[in-house]
Amino acid sequence: MSKRLLLSFAHPDDESFGMGGTIARYVNEGVEVSLICATDGDVGTIPEEMQGQFATIRELRLAELECASQKLGFSHVATFGYRDSGMMGSESNDDPNSLWYTWQHDPDRVVKQVVDVIRDLKPQVVVTFNQYGGYGHPDHIAIQQATEKAFTLAGDASYNDSDKPPYHPQKLYYTGLPALALRFMLMVMRLRGQDPRRMGVNKDLDFQAVIDNLEPIHARINVRDYMDAWEEANACHRSQGGGMNSRFPRWLQKLVTGNQGYTRVQPVPNGTRAIERDLFAGISIDS
Ligand SMILES: [Zn+2]
Repeated sequence: MSKRLLLSFAHPDDESFGMGGTIARYVNEGVEVSLICATDGDVGTIPEEMQGQFATIRELRLAELECASQKLGFSHVATFGYRDSGMMGSESNDDPNSLWYTWQHDPDRVVKQVVDVIRDLKPQVVVTFNQYGGYGHPDHIAIQQATEKAFTLAGDASYNDSDKPPYHPQKLYYTGLPALALRFMLMVMRLRGQDPRRMGVNKDLDFQAVIDNLEPIHARINVRDYMDAWEEANACHRSQGGGMNSRFPRWLQKLVTGNQGYTRVQPVPNGTRAIERDLFAGISIDS
């Protein structure tokens, strides 16, 4: 039987930017890695230098995801086709086809979609965002909550919104963030006189909240040998600034992101805080 890993994220680029190194490593080790991408990432406009190549921002983002999928070697990619909800409080939150709106008004629909994928692909390990959605993006929060519910319901024989046979994945993780680098960036922002609660192009990124919402790390995956593959996947998402990391020397990238951290949600950690080095540690792979 094979090892199977399912990532449940919201936008084309979440997979590469968030955990490209880990994906490259597990694919290289023969793990079947699959992805849920719940929205088409269709908020915003086509960057000027890419005008003319794509009719819509949706086409552009999905083409970038296809590029990253090829580079990383996903076994399956499930797209749910929701509209990108934009940052919290923006008008696109109210689009009935957006993920956030659907999550507020018809959450069972989203949960069922995730359960269907889990029951079809039978991953032993599932990874999604942390409870703050990394940086507070409503789509990240929606898919995190839906995935956590689906993780439990997929194995529940009495849950019959989905007509597929029950399957219970063994472990659930949240993606961690490089805490030291974030704290360093916070210090730099303060030194520059910037307000960490109003960062980003649209001043809608609360950097302080990102740090306040960091969760404990229970697993660290060494991805130092996979920095090139990670960078190639990032570069596919050119409209989102992918490929920019190559401005930094590789030794610095390895230092900051060479070990990708994860928070274990299920099974609940017993408090001894022994750091796992493999997301598949302790699983039985014949189920
Ligand atoms: Zn995202």
